[in-house]
Amino acid sequence: MRLYRTARPHLAAVSEYRPGKPIEEVERELGIRGAVKMASNENALGPSPKAVAAARGALGNVHRYPDGGCFYLRRELSKRLGVKPESIVFANGSDEALVMAVRAFAGPGDEVIVADPTFLIYGIAAAAAGARVVRVPMRDFRYDLGSMAARVSPKTKLIFVANPDNPVGTYVTVRELAAFLGRIPKSVVVVLDEAYFEFAAREKKDYPDGLKFLKVHPNLVVTRTFSKAYGLAGLRVGYAASNPEIAAALNKVREPFNVNLPAQAAALAALSDSAHLGRTLKAVSEGRKLLERELGKMGLVTVDTATNFILIDLGARDAEAVYEKLLRKGVIVRSMAAWGLRGFLRVTIGRPADNRRFLRALKETL
Ligand SMILES: *Cc1c(COP(=O)(O)O)cnc(C)c1O
Repeated sequence: MRLYRTARPHLAAVSEYRPGKPIEEVERELGIRGAVKMASNENALGPSPKAVAAARGALGNVHRYPDGGCFYLRRELSKRLGVKPESIVFANGSDEALVMAVRAFAGPGDEVIVADPTFLIYGIAAAAAGARVVRVPMRDFRYDLGSMAARVSPKTKLIFVANPDNPVGTYVTVRELAAFLGRIPKSVVVVLDEAYFEFAAREKKDYPDGLKFLKVHPNLVVTRTFSKAYGLAGLRVGYAASNPEIAAALNKVREPFNVNLPAQAAALAALSDSAHLGRTLKAVSEGRKLLERELGKMGLVTVDTATNFILIDLGARDAEAVYEKLLRKGVIVRSMAAWGLRGFLRVTIGRPADNRRFLRALKETL
């Protein structure tokens, strides 16, 4: 696609983000029904019923602008997380918090360090801002934090660490994170993306809570989201927690009413629905065991995951062709082509019936 000629020239080299295919799109394009989406790491159990009721309750007031300061959500979250209210910046999904970090800290002439492979938004946002993206390959599917720290230069403004990583699913440990943060100059902002915090914190004993590092590292930003374990991806609520000075910078590039009214109400209600969160974490844990065991029986290698998705190595097989065949069977997983991961697929852990349907479709396909 050509760019309109007054668009900023560096945008020509920026790739667009392509999300997992929506169910309606697959059904429309292939003329099928009853497709299941296991492509975007959404909550397979759905949203908390309490969150849905709260969002519905807010609809009668949507002629009003939402509270730009998210007062009630901020008060509750600040209490739960043990961080000052002014340390939290809310976002239209944590994606927006990541983009705000780039807008506030990096521009032309600056460098942004990311892992490879990792969440695509980091590189896209940095490139769109005109910054140079420095990619540091993972080692054995784990962050190579030593090499990332070694790439810091006087031009480095930002480093993104997804913990756990997407699309790989592995995490960095408390010790690894502490050592890394100790090596990074205070002039460089480290964004620790904890989109899968709830899953990892339940499964892995040495998984760090990034918020615990905020006091010692004033250059740290921790992002979290209501899109994954809390099941509100469609409402778009996430946040960044940081030292209040960083939060002040993020607020300057934040759109005034970026978190809408039903979303604020739903997020607040979701926080108090610990039963739904508990059910979600249990379903993911059980689904992961089933999928890992059955994929193993099929002779497939999976990467040990701390999340609600699994990266699967299809070996010498054509993963794109497998992805397409699964689509035709109504099973939407994620092609890894955009990450340059040849021979891999990523599948989101679903409900028990979804998992079995995926396994059956994959067996038939292979
Ligand atoms: C899903 C995801 C996010 C954010 O999603 P939002 O819906 O924008 O909150 C952020 N980082 C990673 C690594 C993710 O996988």
